[in-house]
Amino acid sequence: MKNFSYHTAKNIKEATKLASSKTAYLAGGMTTLPAIKLRMAAYSDLIDIKKIKDLTGIKVSGKTLKIGATTKHADVASSKEVKKSIASLSSLADGIGDPQVRNRGTIGGSIANNDPSADYPAACLALNANIHTSSRKIESSKFFKGMFETALKSGELIQSVEFQIPEKSCYVKFPNPASRYAIVGVYVAKFKSEVNVAVTGAKSYVFRCEEIEKILSKNFSESSLNSLNLKTSGLNADIHASADYRAHLILTLAKKAVASCK
Ligand SMILES: Cc1cc2nc3c(=O)[nH]c(=O)nc-3n(C[C@H](O)[C@H](O)[C@H](O)COP(=O)(O)OP(=O)(O)OC[C@H]3O[C@@H](n4cnc5c(N)ncnc54)[C@H](O)[C@@H]3O)c2cc1C
Repeated sequence: MKNFSYHTAKNIKEATKLASSKTAYLAGGMTTLPAIKLRMAAYSDLIDIKKIKDLTGIKVSGKTLKIGATTKHADVASSKEVKKSIASLSSLADGIGDPQVRNRGTIGGSIANNDPSADYPAACLALNANIHTSSRKIESSKFFKGMFETALKSGELIQSVEFQIPEKSCYVKFPNPASRYAIVGVYVAKFKSEVNVAVTGAKSYVFRCEEIEKILSKNFSESSLNSLNLKTSGLNADIHASADYRAHLILTLAKKAVASCK
């Protein structure tokens, strides 16, 4: 581990003032600390943002659900507001990692990290989320740019994630038995005028599956997907699953999600 300076920021202004291309924000530390220990990353300074009150909390207003960036997965999983407004988001949070990870890891850290197998990025795309940062509002369709890459500029701080509340939705993942990260995860969200289907774990980063969306927009039923064959080109192939297997999982999980949508 290389030496670094540690700061506790009292507010958003102080945090962003300390930030540079050589620093990292410390939210749950679930990714940053192992990366530093394994010498996969090194920073001059870590800026702890956990004590900034404005970055935490859950609020439903009108047709949206807003979650503060440092809200932990366990708090999203147990929140009555989340269960009532978007129950699928509560069960997604409950399926992340293990109790230790859920009690440290945060929604802001998860989407800033944009792991190709992370769960929240799929929720953001399926639920037309807006990402509110220290300087702007970013639509989730423009936020996830590539493997571990986002639209965030150096030092830009995520403040909250605002999800649209759908008519019904469901997230189903086939988890890696060790880490619980998604080998493939599919989030289906039905709105009045559209159906969104977001897939994680299957490519280098999260994406919307337009082939499935087109079919479900005409006929929102499990059986409408029976004759679909998904292409395997561009899908991940590794020791956990071949591209063929992942294509099969996308379809199977999408059907399961449609059948369980509420
Ligand atoms: C054993 C294990 C199992 C896991 N299983 C899963 C799983 O099943 N599904 C899943 O989705 N995830 C999983 N995770 C990831 C975990 O849930 C965390 O979400 C993730 O590690 C990052 O969140 P964090 O709050 O710990 O961020 P940190 O590690 O503190 O930070 C990560 C990165 O995000 C940046 N960052 C943090 N907060 C902000 C912010 N507000 N604004 C801008 N940038 C910010 C930091 O600068 C840093 O670069 C797992 C992790 C571990 C260690």
